[in-house]
Amino acid sequence: MDTQMLIGSRFEAGTETEEHILNPKSGETVLNLPEASLGQIDAAVDAAEKAFVSWSQTTPGQRSAYLLKIADAIEKDAEGFATLEALNCGKPINAVLNDEIPAIVDCYRFFAGAVRNLHGPVAGEYLPGHTSMIRRDPIGIVGSIAPWNYPLMMMAWKLAPAIAGGNTVVFKPSEQTPLTALKMAKLLADILPEGVVNVILGRGESVGNALINHSKIGMVSITGDVATGKKVLQAAAKTVKRTHLELGGKAPVIVFDDADIDAVVAGIRTFGYYNAGQDCTAACRIYADAKVYDNFVADLTSAVSSIKFNLTDDAENEIGPLISKRQRDRVESFVTRAAEHKHMQITTGGKTSGDRGFFYAPTVVAGATQDDEIVRREVFGPVVSVTRFTDIADAVTWANDSDYGLASSVWTKDISRGMQTAARLQYGCTWINTHFMLVNEMPHGGLKQSGYGKDMSVYALEDYTAVRHVMINHG
Ligand code: NAD
Repeated sequence: MDTQMLIGSRFEAGTETEEHILNPKSGETVLNLPEASLGQIDAAVDAAEKAFVSWSQTTPGQRSAYLLKIADAIEKDAEGFATLEALNCGKPINAVLNDEIPAIVDCYRFFAGAVRNLHGPVAGEYLPGHTSMIRRDPIGIVGSIAPWNYPLMMMAWKLAPAIAGGNTVVFKPSEQTPLTALKMAKLLADILPEGVVNVILGRGESVGNALINHSKIGMVSITGDVATGKKVLQAAAKTVKRTHLELGGKAPVIVFDDADIDAVVAGIRTFGYYNAGQDCTAACRIYADAKVYDNFVADLTSAVSSIKFNLTDDAENEIGPLISKRQRDRVESFVTRAAEHKHMQITTGGKTSGDRGFFYAPTVVAGATQDDEIVRREVFGPVVSVTRFTDIADAVTWANDSDYGLASSVWTKDISRGMQTAARLQYGCTWINTHFMLVNEMPHGGLKQSGYGKDMSVYALEDYTAVRHVMINHG
């Protein structure tokens, strides 16, 4: 197992406080990893600064070739990466191997292609005798900070567009899930020139805080909690850094009376509980038409109670545990508070599972109303609420009545109704008759307090590059 940080071309252990890295399935410590000192953070930033001089001068074709090599190397060691990610996050191995790794490999391949194919306005003589042209140039050093729910995928979403765009990076994984980032550090050091990507370890309040306040860092990219995003904005104000924020979500799902209920139930069973609901796009806030509500709740309850988890044969498991005891306790407390209200019913789940690890049973909370905490706050666990509506206008108003604005879905057989509703939803993404499906060609990112950074797609490449105007006086 790789345990050392990457600073320039040096591998070294942190020298500060140790973090216990846990196996969420058992709660046992896998190993302890010390975090970076301020001196090591500075050294990583200095290495990125030095590397920027030549990396920013490489051609898109050259950078593309590096990205393709990274993709091939991950693909070649897919089992190694998947095993480590499953260990550190408690994810079912098949989910990582068959869902996440191919998407991660494809992310690097997508940006390898996209960077060679950027478009922009034509150059021209907008002032007589002068030719103007637009350039898209790298920003400089990007401080990238990732969460724990999809560590390797978030690393890909952040690294691929940043280095494709000619930037260099100091990357900090979540203190809870650093193992695949450390394995990636080895892989990247074998492929990339020294200092293009540096990987440092540590907690948000110490190492993360030092990164977002570092005067040499030109852009901070973070996926995490809204509260953390606000801290990034405050820190960025001091030196007017660019920021790329991917924050939380509370995705509404509108189920119309003409929807294919079997398809909705199958969809929510998957998209509401995937990754144990630790997903900012999770289909967790359902508004069901009163005409179908009772049957829908009954069918959903039965489907959700059949989700397989915490089985000895991991190949059977559909979801894993929560990432930590703290997260499981948090999820449990949301459900306990919901159950105290008479108008809500816990139709399945509502309890922890097993005496090892951080498992929580997939849960449905029916009868929820718009003002209930379970409808308004991000639970980030395997818990879905269902709210009844009789007026379509209410459903759309309630769906939009949220501090978040990341993802949403509409389920109906009437495509006009689907399109009209999609147009009225204030979310970075709206799916019609599906949910959760992402492709590297399309952007992922939010509105409102979900942030404004775009991951994946050419829009991410735009986020990680600066538009510049160059004008030539012909004399
Ligand atoms: P978090 O905000 O606690 O931590 C995210 C990262 O930020 C970690 O690496 C952490 O060390 C770092 N961090 C924390 N405090 C910091 C500080 N003061 N300065 C600098 N860095 C700091 O979030 P989390 O608990 O790891 O992840 C779960 C959250 O992430 C959820 O709210 C979820 O919705 C969100 N999320 C959003 C997306 C998206 O695309 N919008 C994707 C995944 C997760």
